[in-house]
Amino acid sequence: MLATAGQALGYRFISWDPLPDGPAQQVCDDSVVAAFDDAAAAARFAKACDLITFEWENVPAELAERLQAKIPVRPDPSVLRIVQDRLVQRDFLKKHGFPQTEYRNVNDRPGLEKAFQEIGAPCILKARRLGYDGKGQARLSGPRELHSIREPLKHILERHVPFIKEVSVILARAQDGRTAVYPIAENVHKNGILHTTLAPARIPAGVEKTASALAVAVASKLRHVGVMAVEMFWLGGDGKGQLLINEIAPRVHNSGHYTWGACRTSQFEQHIRAICGLPLGDVKQHTPAVMINLLGDLWANGEPNWSRARARARLCLYGKSKPAPGRKMGHLLLLGDVERSLAQVEKLI
Ligand code: ADP
Ligand code: MG
Repeated sequence: MLATAGQALGYRFISWDPLPDGPAQQVCDDSVVAAFDDAAAAARFAKACDLITFEWENVPAELAERLQAKIPVRPDPSVLRIVQDRLVQRDFLKKHGFPQTEYRNVNDRPGLEKAFQEIGAPCILKARRLGYDGKGQARLSGPRELHSIREPLKHILERHVPFIKEVSVILARAQDGRTAVYPIAENVHKNGILHTTLAPARIPAGVEKTASALAVAVASKLRHVGVMAVEMFWLGGDGKGQLLINEIAPRVHNSGHYTWGACRTSQFEQHIRAICGLPLGDVKQHTPAVMINLLGDLWANGEPNWSRARARARLCLYGKSKPAPGRKMGHLLLLGDVERSLAQVEKLI
């Protein structure tokens, strides 16, 4: 999606994906298929590109740093260093005084038991690295679950947040520090996986303002360049102190897909504009939007029949070759009145 949006601005794209059937290869002008620790491939890639970015925050930071020694990488690999490790990310937020849930570093069983005592149930054990869509996480509501955990190495334990709503702020930050913030997205997760996003979020104006300001402050502290998403929990109420930061994604984000269709500038175009030093585009939302993810479960009996979905909504399929339960295969975007869209969406698939 980054490549498609950027090609419309006159840029050419080379993708790097370790797998030979990566979706980006279907739209990029050229592609590198190699493991991320392949030094020769890195040298070839740096030579072929003028500028490098990423749409996955788990690209090894060492690789991003090696590439940056040759050509610009935006955002800076230092952002990856902070965001790739949940503990480092939480410590960063804490150091700068951002609101978040209580957490502890966990490295062994005694450490887990001590953390569990201090944090209290319910809580969530999260792997520090490489988790996504709720993977690498375990909810602990009592001592029985605590004992079923095998090797609690390199995890954090977080207090469960009794939120009213989950929201995310999608923003872009340019190299000169200017920012543009999209209307806040309201998110519903099922089993740790984003299920529905609707925008604009149905939250009080004061919360919207606080959420935007928090996200901009995070991006500025990170000296981020490009699009970023900041996931938050809203605890209810209208004032300050009722938002907690859950997670930072230094890239275009699933909950920002609605921008492509509902806003004047999509998050994808915006990211390319930010990293290439173009003026940021207009983030105005012209139409209310509901986005629903299409998981691999829908492919249980082969490719679904999309005729109803196509007639009412915009269908975006990512071109992943193997559907699997819980795997994000695409999404549907419904434009227009949010309540009407929510009432219709389940009937489309
Ligand atoms: P990832 O998106 O990388 O899998 P998250 O930390 O965002 O990891 O967790 C996925 C989802 O699990 C969140 O969107 C939220 O619904 C739920 N969740 C995660 N941490 C907490 C928490 N501390 N309290 C309540 N819910 C949580
Ligand atoms: Mg998340």
